[in-house]
Amino acid sequence: MPMLELPARFTGDPAPLGIDLHMHSTASDGALSPAAVVALCASRGLSVMALTDHDTVAGIDEAQRAADEHGIALLPGTELSTRWSGINIHVVGLLPQGAQGALVPGLETQAEARERRAEVIAARLEKVGLADALARAREQAGSSRPLGRPDFARALVAAGLVTDIGQAFRKHLGNGKAGDVKAHWPALDEAVGWILDAGGVAVLAHPLRHGLTRRKRGLLLDAFAAAGGQAAELISGFQNPDVTRDLARQLDERGLLASLGSDFHFPGGHLAPGSMSAVPRTAVPPVWTHPRLASRLQPSRSQCPVL
Ligand code: AMP
Ligand code: MN
Ligand code: MN
Ligand code: MN
Repeated sequence: MPMLELPARFTGDPAPLGIDLHMHSTASDGALSPAAVVALCASRGLSVMALTDHDTVAGIDEAQRAADEHGIALLPGTELSTRWSGINIHVVGLLPQGAQGALVPGLETQAEARERRAEVIAARLEKVGLADALARAREQAGSSRPLGRPDFARALVAAGLVTDIGQAFRKHLGNGKAGDVKAHWPALDEAVGWILDAGGVAVLAHPLRHGLTRRKRGLLLDAFAAAGGQAAELISGFQNPDVTRDLARQLDERGLLASLGSDFHFPGGHLAPGSMSAVPRTAVPPVWTHPRLASRLQPSRSQCPVL
């Protein structure tokens, strides 16, 4: 892994940092193979990336081989589906030592939960006219990976029941709709515990994307910090700078570190690896200053004899 000089704090420089700690591959609902995601990151000049597929680390080995070839620093990761206050909350685990300890059985229960949830989603979508919903979603997935709501969304589009993916989520799969099935996911604090036990850093994913009031978002951050969560995504894709500054205050108040990521899923959309709003000047330290990550991302020369 190359020697890296990562900034110790955010200075408000609008130039991209070349760091993206939230991306998806075909190991979950992304369009590119893990190796292709890494190659794209390398071609876009990123120095540090994390692959964070939903509820799995299945893409990490392939990504690591590609990262070694391209000379880019890869942090193994995952994005866990959890429940808090009746909402589906995502927690990114940055895993310098990979999946270990309680996270290993945790990921097994997540895979089972995804399977059971897919059956419930399928039964509900059959009621709105999608016959053989499970088989059709499986066909859309095109592999044996665990099914996600985007597979059902594409099945609804293919069957002509909705015009596009956006409408599939608005009508049938999004927050509060019939296909938004949360009951199978672990509580937020349990999932955070798995990440901590694996030697990882727990990052609250995209806290601005749940439509919460500022007060409720504060309660979520309180619960996350109380569970042992160490960071939150200050930047997720593109967002309003005023809202970002306000979120930074909320992180600062709770001693949470700041992470950032594109949440890249597929090429051709408005997001690419490393593309996101600039981080404003803030006292909130970057997540890579956490001791659990610093050792992996800033190796001493003795660990890198070839450099
Ligand atoms: P799941 O992990 O199976 O619960 O599915 C959630 C995933 O669906 C998210 O990670 C996104 O990739 C995708 N998604 C959620 N909402 C939308 C939306 N409105 N339009 C398109 N994709 C969405
Ligand atoms: Mn996704
Ligand atoms: Mn997410
Ligand atoms: Mn994501």
